Amino acid sequence: MTDPAPHGIGLMPMETALKALLAVAGTHVSGETIPLGEADGRVLLDDVYAARDVPPWANSAMDGYAINVADQQSGTPLPISQRIPAGTAPKPLQYGTAARIFTGAPIPEGADAVVIQENCDLTQNDQKEPLLVIKQAVVGRENIREQGADVRYRSVIFKAGHRLRPADLGVLAATGVASVHVGKKPVVALLSSGDELVAPGKELAPGQIYNSNAFVLKALLARIGLQVLDLGAMADTRHETERKLSRAAAQADCIISTGGVSAGEEDHVRAALQGMGELDIWKLALKPGKPFAFGRLPAEKGAGERKHDVLFFGLPGNPVSAFVTFLTLVRPTLLAFMGASEPALKELLMPAGFDAPESGSRQEYLRVSVFQAENALPYLMPLRDQSSGVLSSVAQADGLAIVPPHTSVASGQLLRFLPFGDIV
Ligand code: AMP
Ligand code: MG
Repeated sequence: MTDPAPHGIGLMPMETALKALLAVAGTHVSGETIPLGEADGRVLLDDVYAARDVPPWANSAMDGYAINVADQQSGTPLPISQRIPAGTAPKPLQYGTAARIFTGAPIPEGADAVVIQENCDLTQNDQKEPLLVIKQAVVGRENIREQGADVRYRSVIFKAGHRLRPADLGVLAATGVASVHVGKKPVVALLSSGDELVAPGKELAPGQIYNSNAFVLKALLARIGLQVLDLGAMADTRHETERKLSRAAAQADCIISTGGVSAGEEDHVRAALQGMGELDIWKLALKPGKPFAFGRLPAEKGAGERKHDVLFFGLPGNPVSAFVTFLTLVRPTLLAFMGASEPALKELLMPAGFDAPESGSRQEYLRVSVFQAENALPYLMPLRDQSSGVLSSVAQADGLAIVPPHTSVASGQLLRFLPFGDIV
């Protein structure tokens, strides 16, 4: 039987789907306090204020001599009155003298500049004590790193919803933060639907293929710090699908399945979900990735303290469709679950290096490479094979370019571009 609805009618636009998913995820956020050293990739649930200035006191940017600039005017060599290595507390600078100082050491009271050692000579007085000759005069505050120049006491360092990156951990450490309040990570269960699937390492019987989606998804999940319960392949029967789904719901906060979510009679995921819980989204105005399903299953008894529904993402089986729906919908939802306020992939605008006729009623995500000739702006070119089964073109791509519904592309036109960067 053919679909009675004209092509494209009733498909949910991507923005609508993402908004709905993020709204659900927002109700699942819960917090925990963890040591700073474990917080890379985690999301802050509170604004963090600086408990002190960074640097905590003015310090020398160079190895050299701390002086008062007024004392260099006479040109008289200056006696050296103290030595200040990093990690020590200096005495006030004696009038008319210099202090030997090293990078990171506190500027003594009374000094207002550091002369770098390369611009100094040392001579001696009659008592064979060292005297400093300044070869190149400094101005006030030269070579001094001011107190609070990096981070100001009581300023907001990071807002709630910020996902921590390595440098952020350093900024927090510099202000003395030892632990952070972050969103809990969801436990994710992975299911692969399809009688044809076999794990690599076994021989293929006729009709079988290797399960590639599970490898892609596990690695993508690992990049947002999530470990996966791999519940393996799921046979194409309603009973087996229901059995696996309830097993997953008993152990996980989120379930991701691939395959079995289209409209064929071998596709049982959607019906099983409708029977056991709620189907909130099915079929998107998206290419590739139309047969995407999202729903919720009740948390199973015996699931401990969990009160929330279990989120279910039914990804299409075609490897490129699974990849695109994961990046554009599942990943942002999982990050929002972890507390992120801006969980969607970062977009850039980049010029197309190609022409394309008007797209259909679905938003297209093209696999593209970035090309750049010498001294020229970069531009996007689509990989030759854009079919949803050809995963090798994802492997070769630098990112995805978005072509909205009913839009043609002319060379030079700016397209929304999702660079893979360290996400992929
Ligand atoms: P389905 O969504 O179940 O109709 O599957 C669509 C296509 O994706 C079929 O060609 C499947 O063989 C293929 N497929 C489904 N699951 C996987 C998987 N885990 N790895 C690789 N290909 C898959
Ligand atoms: Mg299938």
